[in-house]
Amino acid sequence: MNPPALRWQALLLMFVLGLAVVAEEAWNYAASRRHEIVSIQEGMANLARSVAQETESNVAMADVALVGFAQAMQSDKAALDQAQGHLWSQLETQPLLRSLALQDAGGRPLAGLAARNGAVRPEAPIFLAPGSEIEQHLTRPGWKLQVGAPQRAPDGDGWVIPLSRRFEDADGRLAGLVVAALDLGALEGRLGGFDLGRLGSIALIRADGLLLGRFPSMESAFGRRFDFTALDEAGKGGPTGRTDYVSPIDGRRRVGAYHISPRYGVGVGAARELHEALAPWTQRAWARLAVVAALLLGSLTLGLHLMRQVLRRRAAEQARLASEAHFRLLAEHASDMVARLGLDGRFRYVSPASQRLLGAPPEALLGRPIGEVALEEDRPALQLALAEADHPGCQGQVAFRVAREDGATAWIETTLQRVRETGEGAGFVIVSRDVTARRVMEEQLSALAITDGLTGLANRRHLDEALARAWQQAVERGAPLAVLLLDIDHFKLFNDQYGHQGGDAALRAVAGAIRRCIRDKDDLAARYGGEEFAVILPGAEAAGAARVAERVRKAIAALAIPHARHPLGHVTASIGIAALLPAAQLAAAADAPEEEATAAPPGPEQLLAAADAALYEAKRQGRNRTIAA
Ligand code: GH3
Ligand code: MG
Ligand code: MG
Repeated sequence: MNPPALRWQALLLMFVLGLAVVAEEAWNYAASRRHEIVSIQEGMANLARSVAQETESNVAMADVALVGFAQAMQSDKAALDQAQGHLWSQLETQPLLRSLALQDAGGRPLAGLAARNGAVRPEAPIFLAPGSEIEQHLTRPGWKLQVGAPQRAPDGDGWVIPLSRRFEDADGRLAGLVVAALDLGALEGRLGGFDLGRLGSIALIRADGLLLGRFPSMESAFGRRFDFTALDEAGKGGPTGRTDYVSPIDGRRRVGAYHISPRYGVGVGAARELHEALAPWTQRAWARLAVVAALLLGSLTLGLHLMRQVLRRRAAEQARLASEAHFRLLAEHASDMVARLGLDGRFRYVSPASQRLLGAPPEALLGRPIGEVALEEDRPALQLALAEADHPGCQGQVAFRVAREDGATAWIETTLQRVRETGEGAGFVIVSRDVTARRVMEEQLSALAITDGLTGLANRRHLDEALARAWQQAVERGAPLAVLLLDIDHFKLFNDQYGHQGGDAALRAVAGAIRRCIRDKDDLAARYGGEEFAVILPGAEAAGAARVAERVRKAIAALAIPHARHPLGHVTASIGIAALLPAAQLAAAADAPEEEATAAPPGPEQLLAAADAALYEAKRQGRNRTIAA
């Protein structure tokens, strides 16, 4: 897969993983929030139940007073006076009870006792106001305790909740009503003892939804009716329920619960303002969100970093492979052999060209020292080049010979370069090429440079060098040295008679005759110029040189090359011989007094001049003869 596609896939993977984490967290938050709300509601339900039970017992206590009062009135209408004591004790013992009063069968106030904080105030009892509750008492014989709507106390001092009961005469007809007034302020005060936050509320409610009281107190809310079926989350509107509603009173969303006790149909609803109640949870959620976001961001950054690393390494690896491929291509297809040697001079890598150059495949060379490939006598040169290359900034260069399988000898030219690396990379890089063909050509060229083109004998330059060398050797060894100078007789006439090409052919034939008369190894025959030849005879004394000269003269004559304008009718040659002991000549020159010294010091020229003089003498005496100097 190419890097861009890989990058996009990795990014997509990270994005999907990130999205999964976010989705999981969001789901987690929603569930946790829901759970928190339910637990708030459970707390409110417990509170509502216990407060409802307390309220129920308060109402029950007031009912006990009412029942006693009603029974007293039922048995004897004149018992009102006697009942005063009973009423008084009830008012005294029940601090929530504001007043106890009596109303006739028509609902008209008759008498009563009122109290406030334990102090009896006989003239201000609270009666049931004319309205629905009186109507219901009058028209429903079985009607028991009735909890009325809150009403303002007649003395203007706070609010009360009237509790009323009917009593009957001996015939079972309605005889009147007894009414107890519960102090709403005191009831609300008891509701205030719970922690519902700044915006929470707890309310006293009647089974039909009528609001009886509230903490915090709110007069404007008295007399409102709640629809439990709407309030109840489950929509049942039963005696208990959980609530989650927007308050019609202050427009705030509240969550909580209500509990209505069945005995008197009074209950309690408790609720907390949602945001306030959730505040601790919200704080925890934010903290957790921060941690999750940091983790997500961290792993995302780490992921991106790792991805970049992987891509960079891949690119580097690809570049390395590419350069390796280039190198291999170059090394394996180059006509030159490329090889690597360790510091020990053994082959570590050899390119396939070794087969062609050294006659051995790379695998046969690996691990072997480079010296082994060269001929015995060239190995020191190779070692020297290796040592040379080991010097900083230097390059070794050497040409050596190798023996091929077919028995031929090949010349290999090698350049060695030290690789300044450590460990496995240390060693030498060598490049080798086969220079056999060039060597052969060079040898041919140098041979040509010292050969006479027409006759194949040594040329004049070669003669001069060889003579100088021979003189030097003769001096060193104390050996004699002889020279013959040969000139073909009447050759101008030969040319005139047979033409230049005929002359050239004759020259070649004479040269062949000379060559056949001398020893290949030590003697040297050369074309001196025109139709003149010279022969160097190292180690030859005068007698020996004369014998060679005579042999040559006879061999030329024996060729019997026709020469119409020669007195003998065939080609002949005259030869001048010079032979001496160079060491003795030098010694003599050194011993000679100053004034006797000749112009030229003893040397090869002296020898040639002597031979030339002898040749001249041979010509003068009639040609076709040899004369010694
Ligand atoms: P002699 O030596 O007997 O006194 O007479 P000669 O005719 O040989 O006299 P000389 O040595 O002076 O003449 C040399 C002649 O050799 C001149 C020239 O025609 C001929 N000659 C010199 N070099 C060559 C050559 O390379 N090829 C041919 N065909 N002739 C040559
Ligand atoms: Mg001549
Ligand atoms: Mg001549």
